[in-house]
Amino acid sequence: MRKITTLTNIALASILLTACAEQPTVKEEATTNTKHATTHHKHWGYSGDVAPEHWGSLDNKFHMCSEGKEQSPIDVVATKDVELAPLSINYPQGSKSIINNGHTVQVNIKGGDTLTINGEAYELKQFHFHTPSENHINGKSFPLEAHFVHATKDGKLAVIAVMFKEGTENPTLNKIIKSFPLEKNKEAKLEFDKDYLDVVMPPKRDYYHFMGSLTTPPCSEQVNWFVLKQPQTASKEQIAAMHKEIGMNNNRPVQATNGRVIEQ
Ligand SMILES: [Zn+2]
Repeated sequence: MRKITTLTNIALASILLTACAEQPTVKEEATTNTKHATTHHKHWGYSGDVAPEHWGSLDNKFHMCSEGKEQSPIDVVATKDVELAPLSINYPQGSKSIINNGHTVQVNIKGGDTLTINGEAYELKQFHFHTPSENHINGKSFPLEAHFVHATKDGKLAVIAVMFKEGTENPTLNKIIKSFPLEKNKEAKLEFDKDYLDVVMPPKRDYYHFMGSLTTPPCSEQVNWFVLKQPQTASKEQIAAMHKEIGMNNNRPVQATNGRVIEQ
């Protein structure tokens, strides 16, 4: 594993955001620390004047979107074979909430779900979806990608990406889809069964690892990416339902790797 650098609290707060964009001011809580931050968020989106190619110029705080050299997503092609530590995932039963924040459908986690890698504990903060996939694997795009966003207590970020291909129906996705339609920016309670993520995460958890960024403004870097090699399946109807609820293609185009090391 590469060194992991700490992100600023602002960046962390951004990725934990549960409301967005349409409101000029959002009061938010960075759940990994106790202080509250009030930040201004410029409107951004996936088409027209606020499309990804304009993000870097929409707000000073978004400058990494255009200037960063380790941006995400990417076309994931391994450059190095190494002994990668296993992902130790412990997502127990718990109360969650679901929100359509105008950019994605997101499940917020109240705490207690952890990822441990190389002895370092990350807490699962939220997971959300992109249709079609943001990352590609060996040039291949997928119809759906889930991002599981984790943070350590001091703000290091790790994202596990799970691809979905069309196939058999996924029970956990059904639970999410059954809670549609969602009123924008309004959280709704969502109860999952025990081991709910076992049906979202593939049983085989071999992965690619590389350093990247948030795929949405402010596009902050120093994010540890773990892209699982094995895709999960979702039915054609489930993929269509996710896309319909999100209401657009919410995938940032793939970014230059600039010689990044991609481990497998
Ligand atoms: Zn994402």
